[in-house]
Amino acid sequence: MNLSMNAPALAFRSVTAGYKSRPVLDGVDFTIAEGEFVSIIGPNGSGKSTLLRTATGLIRPTRGSVGLFGREISSLKPRERASLIGVVPQKLESPMAFTVAEIVMIGRSGPRGRWGIPDSRDHDSAERAMIYTNVLDLKDRLFNELSAGEQQRAALAMALAQEPRIIMLDESIAHLDINHSQEVLRILMKLNREEKITVLLVSHDLNLAAQIADRLLMVDAGKLVSNGSPGEVMQEELLSRVYGCELRVRKDPYGGHPVVTGTLDAILRRATSRQCLHVIGGGGSGIELFRRLLIEGFQVTSGVLNRLDSDAEAARALDIPCVLEQPFSAIGADSFEAARLMVAGADGLVVGPVPFGPGNVVNLELAAEALKAGKPVWMAADIARRDYTLDHAAARMAEQLKSGGAVEWRGIQELMALLQHDVINRQA
Ligand code: ADP
Ligand code: MG
Repeated sequence: MNLSMNAPALAFRSVTAGYKSRPVLDGVDFTIAEGEFVSIIGPNGSGKSTLLRTATGLIRPTRGSVGLFGREISSLKPRERASLIGVVPQKLESPMAFTVAEIVMIGRSGPRGRWGIPDSRDHDSAERAMIYTNVLDLKDRLFNELSAGEQQRAALAMALAQEPRIIMLDESIAHLDINHSQEVLRILMKLNREEKITVLLVSHDLNLAAQIADRLLMVDAGKLVSNGSPGEVMQEELLSRVYGCELRVRKDPYGGHPVVTGTLDAILRRATSRQCLHVIGGGGSGIELFRRLLIEGFQVTSGVLNRLDSDAEAARALDIPCVLEQPFSAIGADSFEAARLMVAGADGLVVGPVPFGPGNVVNLELAAEALKAGKPVWMAADIARRDYTLDHAAARMAEQLKSGGAVEWRGIQELMALLQHDVINRQA
């Protein structure tokens, strides 16, 4: 075969393709360089499988062209195609009672020629493929009698036995459990990194695709809507639009790759929890408390805070009801009364690691009110160290609160654990 070494492994040039009754792909343009690991993502029915069928030559474009290692795919003989492309379909159907070893040997028919008798090279290659995919133990079992996961690994073994230059997989790992999908991915990565085999993986698992692929191609309604590194493609706005639901993207703390999540969890939890906690914050001590309590599904109120305090700004941004006092003013009777009413409506009160001075020490009275009403109070420890009142009023108040039943906490993690425990006990 006359293949160019520098040509892209796969090139779609303005490809329009589909089925008799239904055009699917619409002007799709991209190239994949040899040795790349590319993942195709997109919602159900967007055209991923159609794209893959077009890439393997199963579907001919009605417009545009597909190049494979510098050759027009339509000009390649089936045997030439089979020696270049290994396809792992979503589900491999075996029409006859073939054993795994026989199925894998079918993969050799491309390189060997359809009617040739398998030689030692064929046997070595098939054996190597079966070792790689961990199906050697299954080699005498009937393919149709294997579990879905075992069949997938056997199908991959068959594709590997072809010794292809590009492997194309269509959701092939979707049905594997986490152990086996990790294993198959490791095999693919190894083949890609060490043997420079190009991989094109269709996956509806965005996180998996972002974790493993060098590049993502995102398809939506038959059009290529994004083509770039996982970081470039995994944009909240784009994903939310393409998938038609609100999605969030954050960075994986270990691998650094983008991770997409839905927003259902937080919303559901918040909606089902009627627990409301009032937070005594100030000077920025409340922001992390607000954030964590909201994520844990609590409703949160706060105050009294000074209007320009960073906690007041955060409360406003997070839609947390908050009683505010004029900037740089001591808490007055009106705002204290408003906060007292707010605490009366809460299920508990959290005192943050706030510095107390003469202007805001009165907020600790709110905690006393809560205790008096039989509500739990969780208080950041060591108030004495943050007591800037002249007469140690805050420290004295803290001692009273403690003897009244307030629970001290050190660090947000401990507070969360305490809340978890106390709230569950109260609900029981
Ligand atoms: P995906 O793999 O992204 O889920 P597909 O490529 O399978 O999407 O399907 C894209 C569109 O083509 C869908 O609307 C689907 O119904 C349609 N389609 C898929 N296969 C056929 C077929 N053999 N004949 C006609 N339409 C098809
Ligand atoms: Mg599909």
